[in-house]
Amino acid sequence: KYDYIVVGAGAAGNVVAARLAENGASTVLVLEAGISDEGILAAQVPLLAPTLTPNTLYDWNSTVVPQSNLNNRTFTLSRGRLLGGSTSVNYMSHHYGSSEDYDCLARITGDSGWSWNNMKQYVKRHEKIVPPADGHNTTGQYTPSLHGTNGVLPKSLPGYSVATDSRIIATTRELSSEFPFNQDITSGNVLGVTWVQSAIGGGKRSSSSTTYLASVKDRKNVDVLVNAQVTKLLRTGTVGGKPSFKGVQYAAGPGSPTQTAYAREEVILSAGSLGTPQILMLSGIGDKDELASHYITTVIENTSVGKNLSDHALLPNNWIVQGTESLDGLFRDQSALNSALVQWQANKTGPLVHGTVNHIGFFRLPSDAPIFETTSDPSSGPTAFHYELIFSSYWLHPTLPSPANGSYMTICSALISPTSRKFQMMAPPSPLPNPLINPQYLSTAFDKYTLREAVKAAKRFTSGPAWADYILAPYGDLASTNTDADIDAYARKYTSTIFHPVGTAAMSAKDAGWGVVDPDFRLKGADGVRIVDASVWPFVPNAHTQGPVYLLAERAASIIAEPS
Ligand code: FAD
Repeated sequence: KYDYIVVGAGAAGNVVAARLAENGASTVLVLEAGISDEGILAAQVPLLAPTLTPNTLYDWNSTVVPQSNLNNRTFTLSRGRLLGGSTSVNYMSHHYGSSEDYDCLARITGDSGWSWNNMKQYVKRHEKIVPPADGHNTTGQYTPSLHGTNGVLPKSLPGYSVATDSRIIATTRELSSEFPFNQDITSGNVLGVTWVQSAIGGGKRSSSSTTYLASVKDRKNVDVLVNAQVTKLLRTGTVGGKPSFKGVQYAAGPGSPTQTAYAREEVILSAGSLGTPQILMLSGIGDKDELASHYITTVIENTSVGKNLSDHALLPNNWIVQGTESLDGLFRDQSALNSALVQWQANKTGPLVHGTVNHIGFFRLPSDAPIFETTSDPSSGPTAFHYELIFSSYWLHPTLPSPANGSYMTICSALISPTSRKFQMMAPPSPLPNPLINPQYLSTAFDKYTLREAVKAAKRFTSGPAWADYILAPYGDLASTNTDADIDAYARKYTSTIFHPVGTAAMSAKDAGWGVVDPDFRLKGADGVRIVDASVWPFVPNAHTQGPVYLLAERAASIIAEPS
């Protein structure tokens, strides 16, 4: 028996495990379905991130069902399956979102502890800002006073400059009314174009495994088991009239014997937005009719389990550019790649420290946009954003392989305040296969409209004078996106995901008639279980999601450690 069992060693799980274990007083067992991250070079070298997913050993390789608004295409909704979870395979961009996200969460849950005013203290506890790998002068690229210098996770500004950097900054001056510069979005004020801060320290990826878990995993009070997929919560009794689940059943894989483990205090589910609701359903917690259709006996009826998924949809736009400054050549020339690797191994500098993106920008639709005649504004507040532009100085496209020749730049358009929520995740009859996932991307008029506007914005961005001597032409179908109908067809053909699913075990107010956990992360209607991961965010924040998950997990750890 352990004091706590943490299920899933990802962003949230490793924060909770490390914080509960750090004073040595509590015993903690971490159960991770995937493998160890030790010795996986691509999980350390920032520019190799795109090689880690999909269709690898490090990815669950779950695919979405054919998406009716995307020409019935199916694709992988990647998530990490190794220590560190998705933080060991993600693209490392690291920020926390809009202050409005946290204030909105406080309103939804009736818990003022979620407000930005309270939550910003966790930024300093979590992060340790360090110089970029190339040691360049970062004056004017971020605001030091907003950052932690003694936290757990090293992060930095870009450590390798790319051809688009100066042109992007020039555009924020030339087209400043639409695309202003924002020095540091850690303020909670997120609108504008900013230098990316990444979970990279000393030229290497900072995952939750190399930081939080590494700080405690050799202690006597912590055990970490890999290849241990939890298949079910085990009921251990009834407390205060509620079923208590202080046990778990786990197995290494199909056909392997199941084992059990028990907690004196609590089981903490941190298996992520797809893993957590799957475990709940397999334990008889979910929609009665759906569970019955899989011959699972309902223990706690809760129709919110596995519903309400929201995710950021992603649509890459590529341009053909002049010269050989882009990074495309590096990926085509094995000897150049080998030299870059030698440089990285020698002193953690050079192109391989590049985290794939040096700038991102966040924007709102104008308040008089025609879509607001029929749809109310779904963003978390008046200074939050509706869409994002993500800038890469090479070909970056999840659904189209890189062309054999030429130099490229990519601006991905991402839909940030999605309204598509008809997500259904079905519990499969057997615990070990992947769940069926149907996020219904672009199923609403607002989502189609906003992504279309985000493509137009990317085209306007590249029309500024700074690009005249660099861009040769839009690539492929982008060149013929002249009308709204053209852009919609283009979006149906190429949109996929930026891997930010949340909401499938949503947090709500204690007495709400919906939701899966209370504001203190306790599973509604149960004893002995909390859920701490991306699944509890009731809406997708204005950010790439690891930062908001890290902050949420830091607060969870303080709440769990409080005497009840
Ligand atoms: P995860 O970090 O996914 O951790 C869940 C863990 O639980 C995993 O280790 C998993 O293997 C384990 N698990 C699941 N089921 C079970 C089970 N039954 N038993 C035991 N263990 C289980 N965010 C950013 O902010 N910036 C980015 O640049 C970025 N890029 C991304 C790129 C990719 C390819 C992906 C996949 C994600 C990206 N994200 C990014 C998203 C971010 O990484 C996630 O939002 C965040 O890691 C979610 O944290 P989590 O703790 O909820 O889940």
